[in-house]
Amino acid sequence: MLIFEKSRPGRGICALPGNDVPAVLPSQKDLRETKLHLPELSEVELSRHYTELAKKSHGVNDGFYPLGSCTMKYNPRINEEMAGLPQFTEIHPLQPAHTVQGCLEVLKTAERYLCEITGMDAMTLQPAAGAHGEFTGLLLIKAYHESRGDKARTKIIVPDSAHGTNPASAAMAGYSVVSIPSREDGCVDLDKLREAVGPDTAGLMLTNPNTVGLFDKNILEITEIIHSCGGLCYYDGANLNAVMGVVRPGDMGFDVIHLNLHKTFSTPHGGGGPGSGPVGCKAELAQFLPSYRVAEGEELSLYKAENSIGEVKSFYGNFLVVVRALTYMMTLGKEGIPEASKNAVLNANYMMNQLKDLYTMAYDEVCMHEFVMTLDPLKNETGISAMDIAKGLLDFGIHPPTMYFPLIVHEALMVEPTETESKETMDYAISVFRDLYEKAHQDPEALHMAPVTTPVTRMDEVGAARNPVLRYKFD
Ligand SMILES: *Cc1c(COP(=O)(O)O)cnc(C)c1O
Repeated sequence: MLIFEKSRPGRGICALPGNDVPAVLPSQKDLRETKLHLPELSEVELSRHYTELAKKSHGVNDGFYPLGSCTMKYNPRINEEMAGLPQFTEIHPLQPAHTVQGCLEVLKTAERYLCEITGMDAMTLQPAAGAHGEFTGLLLIKAYHESRGDKARTKIIVPDSAHGTNPASAAMAGYSVVSIPSREDGCVDLDKLREAVGPDTAGLMLTNPNTVGLFDKNILEITEIIHSCGGLCYYDGANLNAVMGVVRPGDMGFDVIHLNLHKTFSTPHGGGGPGSGPVGCKAELAQFLPSYRVAEGEELSLYKAENSIGEVKSFYGNFLVVVRALTYMMTLGKEGIPEASKNAVLNANYMMNQLKDLYTMAYDEVCMHEFVMTLDPLKNETGISAMDIAKGLLDFGIHPPTMYFPLIVHEALMVEPTETESKETMDYAISVFRDLYEKAHQDPEALHMAPVTTPVTRMDEVGAARNPVLRYKFD
């Protein structure tokens, strides 16, 4: 039942203090003509409503959530505790710098740590998400070429194993996209890359480990090819879970990077809640970073970089998300950060190896933080698709892995356990995957019906995408 249907006139809770300043009403032309529909419920009804909704969905706190590429990792409670401190919540972005020195120190320290982890020289915390960071990073690349009077560079090279946001961001930044195919082994085809580069190459966008979960062995050669033709290298570091504290994109030859704090750095993810996509760059690009930057000094202050591309978001980005990410980095420390990465890689390899006698792996080699299987053979044999297996998992309290992505793998399921999952949890998931494989052979019809235990069962996903109902129809 929707909240509007539970609403009863006059039942609303409204405990605003009395007005102690002269009332100023908007002019008649600005007033709305129809009644504003706000649900009216008592506090307990409201509380129950949202608890009921929470019970109907599946989150990281409900069970295993191996959503590849998305890194649905546990959000430690201490992050929330820090982000709830009044010293962080009861401030105003227009407060003079000398009154918020602690907050500026949070920004500065987070920047420093993220630079250290990525091997970059400067960082902006302003972008609000990964794709927003990509767009920002590409504007830095554009500003760099333009500042040198180099107007011929109109193309961004994007391997076909890239995240879908990469070509979209390049197009948003006004570039044309050159897609290059991956080799059989999932890595960038160096010959194709050499053919594609030239004086019109502005840069390359690369995800490494790539979207099939593999670390590209030719990474140094790739960045060298781009640099030797005058282009810059962009590292999609949305998911740094396999490499943080182990290897640094800056050392691989990358000039610009974005990170998703809502993936690798354990801040809440999903539900469209606030994210954060910091962008790091090498020293020669720092002059173009979005404003405002925190200047070092006896007293911390804010400044605008001299050739700044301008603001990409108001003020300092999603500040409380940065507080959470900094808490995570300080909790783990210099030893804990690489350990988290190594455990993420270990967990993914453990699951892959426990499943590969039944399920066909798209690439049969050591994976990074995630692995991709293809259900093509199973589908040919039994008619059971990646979608059916994904739906079947739901009946066992497991969120489906990423489905039908990356696009270069047919009937793909992309599994990313993350580092905090115990062996018991993974063993349970492995046994469910194995049981579903059996079921695909013995009772495929039943699996086509899954899930049967969830609040909503098999949905018309095409219908939902084509004809979304996003607004409540008031009488
Ligand atoms: C998630 C992801 C993105 C996009 O990040 P958003 O915060 O969803 O905009 C980009 N690249 C990769 C590799 C990702 O996994």
